[in-house]
Amino acid sequence: MALRFYNTLTLQLQPFAPERDNTVRMYTCGPTVYDYAHIGNFRSFVFYDLLRRWIRASGFKLDHVMNITDVDDKIIRNAVAQGKSLAEYSEIYTQAFFEDAKLLRLEVPEHVARATEHIDQMADAIAKLGEKGFTYDTDGSVYYRIANFPGYGKLSHNDFSGMKAGARVDVDEYEKADARDFVLWKAPKDNEPFWQTKVGRGRPGWHIECSVMAIQYLGDTLDLHAGGIDLVFPHHENEIAQSEALTGKQFARFWVHAEFLLVEGQKMSKSLGNFYTLRDILSRGYPPEAVRYLLASVPYRKSLNFKFSELKTAETSIERLRNYKLRLETAKFPEGLNEQLVTRTAEAVKSFREAMDDDLNTAEALAAVFEYIRDTNTAMDSGTFLAGNVENAKGLLQLFNSVFDVLDVTRSADALSDAQVDEFIARRQQAKKARDYKLADSIRDELTAKGIILEDTKDGIRWKRK
Ligand code: AMP
Ligand code: ZN
Repeated sequence: MALRFYNTLTLQLQPFAPERDNTVRMYTCGPTVYDYAHIGNFRSFVFYDLLRRWIRASGFKLDHVMNITDVDDKIIRNAVAQGKSLAEYSEIYTQAFFEDAKLLRLEVPEHVARATEHIDQMADAIAKLGEKGFTYDTDGSVYYRIANFPGYGKLSHNDFSGMKAGARVDVDEYEKADARDFVLWKAPKDNEPFWQTKVGRGRPGWHIECSVMAIQYLGDTLDLHAGGIDLVFPHHENEIAQSEALTGKQFARFWVHAEFLLVEGQKMSKSLGNFYTLRDILSRGYPPEAVRYLLASVPYRKSLNFKFSELKTAETSIERLRNYKLRLETAKFPEGLNEQLVTRTAEAVKSFREAMDDDLNTAEALAAVFEYIRDTNTAMDSGTFLAGNVENAKGLLQLFNSVFDVLDVTRSADALSDAQVDEFIARRQQAKKARDYKLADSIRDELTAKGIILEDTKDGIRWKRK
């Protein structure tokens, strides 16, 4: 069976393929840069990265837009409090986000679109919605009249038909029970920053930002729109109302949503104070790969309860994978090709692909890899894994790593390069040959201090990074 995703719009698992040119047009809701992102946010961002990678591994091309929300109530509040301009303040956290994303090996989308660089386009869209009769103005702010959009509620599967027309809400985030006309353009209060546009002085609401940038870069109909589950209502419901009113076409064919990262059963969030930033985790000595692995290992539609012990387990799993890779690269296997293992590898590749195709079932995909590693390690121990089987096994690891991307060790800026390590090892070999064991030991100690571990095996020296 081919690739399929659970579509929040239809509540069904559906076969997925792009509508035209073999290219997936994908939009994902990015960070609001008012502070450091926490690893709950990064669960959603790692999910976007898995989507990217598996869509490409499925043979499709990809055009992906992610927004940076660099104007909103919280950013303005914090910037004003610190006496900084909006741009100055949000740039700090935009850069922090990029740094964290890089550490987590998140691929950079084809377009990263900052809201503040698209203000005029948003004003144009709001004006156009006005011409079509979907808006009204009150005290300099512009609101979307949801009673005029019959499909309102189709994504969150709520019936809002009994709602009081004309009641409105100014904040960007609110609960279902609060469904009311939402704000497209906010008039400035006191000394708030504002833009002068064709719809007046002010700033855009959060929802219009995503509709406008998605359509600008990807066209009227997206193949796939993703976000965290908390965005289904109101954010994505409002995106649909705005976009479909503007274009008269379906806004996104597939809507996919990641469940929460929890802490002791509650959503990890800034407001509950139960959050860890990536920096918090790294300062406790965990490598970023462990965070990536943990966030990726639980299928995105299952909530994930965060525990430090799980990060330890993730580290151990990564260690196993790396040791296996090292064994493949350095051990000397008997000549020949074991046909049974060729079949075994093909089975593992098939299971991995089938699991990922099944709505990105990463847990099953990992299980396929670890079973294969267990079986082939046993074959290596008993001498039935032959030299001709190495390339095959490496291929499986490559497939795994093209999605999970945890095999390479994150190196600090002052870490030794591979060539430098080889030089150290050559000097140590020379010292041993000259029977200068004191020097040989001191070279080993120096390497250990630099995070390089040497192992003497029957096939010679091999090394790895700690
Ligand atoms: P924000 O920066 O608040 O706009 O959120 C960025 C993304 O993180 C959104 O897609 C949210 O749905 C997502 N998100 C926020 N908290 C969590 C959480 N605890 N688990 C998973 N995703 C989350
Ligand atoms: Zn959005």
